[in-house]
Amino acid sequence: MCTQHWTPEEFRRRGHAMVDLVADYWARVQQTGAGAAWPVSGGRGPGETAALLPERAPEHAEPWEAVVADIERVILPGLTHWQSPAFFGYFPANISPPAVLGELLSAGLGVQGMLWATSPACTEVETRVLDWMAHAIGLPERFLSSGPGGGVIQGTASEAVLVALVAARHRARLRGMSGAPVVYASSQAHSSIVKAAVIAGVADDVRARGGLVGGGVRLIPVDADLRMDPAALARAIDDDRAGGRLPLLACATVGTTGTMAIDDVEAAGRVCAERSVWLHVDAAMAGSACICPEHRVLLTGPGGTGLERVDSLCFNPHKGLLTNFDCSLLWTADRASLTGALSITPEYLRNAATEAGAVWDYRDWQIPLGRRFRALKLWFVLRAYGLEGLRAHVREHDRLGGVLEGLVRADARFEVPVRRRLGLVCFRLRAGRSATEGLLQRVNARGRVFLSHTVLPSGEAGGGGGAWGENPYVIRMAIGGTFTREEHVREAWAEIASQAEA
Ligand SMILES: *Cc1c(COP(=O)(O)O)cnc(C)c1O
Repeated sequence: MCTQHWTPEEFRRRGHAMVDLVADYWARVQQTGAGAAWPVSGGRGPGETAALLPERAPEHAEPWEAVVADIERVILPGLTHWQSPAFFGYFPANISPPAVLGELLSAGLGVQGMLWATSPACTEVETRVLDWMAHAIGLPERFLSSGPGGGVIQGTASEAVLVALVAARHRARLRGMSGAPVVYASSQAHSSIVKAAVIAGVADDVRARGGLVGGGVRLIPVDADLRMDPAALARAIDDDRAGGRLPLLACATVGTTGTMAIDDVEAAGRVCAERSVWLHVDAAMAGSACICPEHRVLLTGPGGTGLERVDSLCFNPHKGLLTNFDCSLLWTADRASLTGALSITPEYLRNAATEAGAVWDYRDWQIPLGRRFRALKLWFVLRAYGLEGLRAHVREHDRLGGVLEGLVRADARFEVPVRRRLGLVCFRLRAGRSATEGLLQRVNARGRVFLSHTVLPSGEAGGGGGAWGENPYVIRMAIGGTFTREEHVREAWAEIASQAEA
């Protein structure tokens, strides 16, 4: 018996039905409060979903209707509903209809874009869209494809910093530098920096994970605004060089995941340029906001020249720019170092366009060889909303962050211990840590809204002047969902305030 594929007509019919299912999901997930279809989070415990699945794959084809029925039974009750307008945890992983259709088209076209030659449009649309975005967030010319740099879509910011690190090592070796490599980031930087150092063999082992300074990662203390201390960065680099080590890469964070703190990119750039250290900017969280001229200062600093000494920069449209995971944009001002580090050409990939040096092969910019047409979804989003539409989206969530901050500050039981930026508000009960932890647990267990938390650095270890001392635990409310409106923020606050009474 030969394999039975669906006919184009069957795909059309079932595909339309699946689009209907997604559209219905979006309608249902927007029902909040007492009428909600599911709790925002916590619908199932460990193992409960697996128990609904057979232990072996089906030997015989099943009716498609049975598969579709299991979405409602097996899948939807087992989700945290990230697209609920009452989801305020972690970061806004907002999506949009054009982006979803971009994913569908990419899957349907099924092309591989590892080389220019394996699908020219896949590479050239991506390069052009990255140039568009570079202009949109105000990157200097040297990051454009017409200069020494250029951009590429990575799956995640974690991959972006890993390839930046490998590029930095390649450049340092070419410059004849040697020694045990060291990577620098603030105590508030994302765990992906340490992970990249571990994967690249720069950090000894995973002991560095918990923020412990092991192997070749140094976590630099922060000031009272949770910004990396540039003088401490300079000292650490100088000490390491004096000790025969090789300071390789420093990461400045524009929008820390915990509190949206903004490192001074300009100051870090001066420190790194004087010392021949690669500066990577991790703007995964706040980069999306920089499509608004008024937020660009987060990247460029008040002097407007902060990006002049940056070697690479990444931000995540999958965090806040209406583009489905995964879509992380990486630019470098020195693409020769990146491709020099990662270009390895087996015979079967040799082709005339590559040999002629006429094209870019994005496999040389990333970890995997294969790559799908990920630029389609971003291209769709940019064209369907326009930069103007995206700016309006960013500004609305910034405004709602302000609304929420006002509500928190008006309630004497609460305080906002760190500066609110964009849609991220961090707050706590004055009554202390255990009261705040208890409140978060109660609110999340009720399932009407979902929030997450972080712990501010205290004392010597992380810096910050120990300003948060005995009460470093804060609830984070990250506003930025596609469907989140002011009424949802107010409802969420009413829920939090009422649970604070308990
Ligand atoms: C989310 C985040 C990352 C990691 O993002 P991925 O794309 O999931 O790897 C890195 N840095 C910061 C500041 C983040 O907020």
